[in-house]
Amino acid sequence: MKRFACLTAALTMIAAAPPAARAQATRSGSAANTPAIVLHAARLFEVVPGRIVSPGEVLVEGDRIKAAGTSVPHPAGARVIDLGDTTLMPGLIDAHVHLFLHPSPPSEGMQTVDESVPERTIEATLAAKADLMAGFTAERDMGTEGAGPADTAVRDAIDAGKIPGPRLRISGMAISILGGHEDAIGYNPAQHVLGNADYANDAEQLVETIREQHKLGSSFVKIYETGTDRMVPHGSAPCLGDPICTPLGLGAQAGDPQFWDFHTPYQYTEDQLKAAVAEAARLDTNVGVHCQGEPAARFAVEAGVASIDHATQLSDETMKLMKEKDIPAVPTFTIFKYFADHAPSAAAKAREYAMLDYKIHEFKRQVAAGTPMAIGSDVGPFPHGTQAEEFALMVKYGMTPLAVLQADYLNGSRILTWQNEVGQLKPGYFADVIAVPGNPLEDITAVQHVAFVMKGGVVYKSAGGGNGN
Ligand SMILES: [Zn+2]
Repeated sequence: MKRFACLTAALTMIAAAPPAARAQATRSGSAANTPAIVLHAARLFEVVPGRIVSPGEVLVEGDRIKAAGTSVPHPAGARVIDLGDTTLMPGLIDAHVHLFLHPSPPSEGMQTVDESVPERTIEATLAAKADLMAGFTAERDMGTEGAGPADTAVRDAIDAGKIPGPRLRISGMAISILGGHEDAIGYNPAQHVLGNADYANDAEQLVETIREQHKLGSSFVKIYETGTDRMVPHGSAPCLGDPICTPLGLGAQAGDPQFWDFHTPYQYTEDQLKAAVAEAARLDTNVGVHCQGEPAARFAVEAGVASIDHATQLSDETMKLMKEKDIPAVPTFTIFKYFADHAPSAAAKAREYAMLDYKIHEFKRQVAAGTPMAIGSDVGPFPHGTQAEEFALMVKYGMTPLAVLQADYLNGSRILTWQNEVGQLKPGYFADVIAVPGNPLEDITAVQHVAFVMKGGVVYKSAGGGNGN
């Protein structure tokens, strides 16, 4: 109740301001003319040195951080918010979300066909609010999946302070090939069911599509670089037509990742991806790829994409290049686990868990090879606001809490091209600050219990007291 009242108050303040003040406040994405705020808590996480200091304080002026450390100046008239036994941290970054998708188990279901774009846009505003309240203050939306450039309106409404949500990098629709990933395959052709991507079949069409999306408001490029995934028993011919052709009745072998070969077709050649990366660079932005495996991952890394999303299968050579070029993998474990947990039948469950086991096995290889990581959940098909589970899964499968947090803040901010604006509690950075109970370096699940959220100097969620719960 209290957090809702707090949010309402913040929004009312913006809504009640005269137009000129509103324009000033909204352009900076926060309350530009409010008094300074001092946040005080038992602890503060310093991202780059990777340590917790105690106590912790952050001085906020307007939408920016003025100072941070164990103590900061308390200017006359500053509002002090005591967050008690909590840890102050930068707002979380989710590098792979879908605001325009909502749960429809066991997968996304038919929502992109059944629901209108206005209906889906309303859902997206609710998703943006849920993510912000969970502590995610910056996100990269990896495609509206059939809702065209409707993400432009959501991003702009958030930036204008009209609705609560994270600061967003948006792609409009993802780009795919004719008959490729997210195309409407298997429907009655007479119905002309639309696919969920913008379609481009060669380098020229890629560049043209990127320009069209840019015109409509996109801030980066999302490309589907792999198509349908298949897992087949080692040495067998890939079966066609079944997404994961796991023969049943294999007993213990079914859970053995080394028993499987993973097959996924590439969609664009390295040269085609290079053309897309060059066009994105011309627009001062970058390309993120849905990329499940080889040889696509190698093509994408050679072409210079910003991140390899899903990254289920990476060759030794690709992992080496990713380390050299500092290109992160974004594993998106939460979505794989959700699909496995919510599979509609025992057979489907066995297939999904075989895929998850394979993925965990490969992730451990990637961590051992020093592959850079970023944190993206693929939230949308599972409930918005619950995606901090991704941090816990990455720790469970082999990274330390510190490594996961540094990957999120430092690599996440970089692939969102906000590396000098978010991801650290540092003077000059946006005042995107959260507080969590406990010590996240000892127990990463602390990030699943965010007690306080500030974005751009505006408080969106507050326990309101000193206990931080
Ligand atoms: Zn996705």
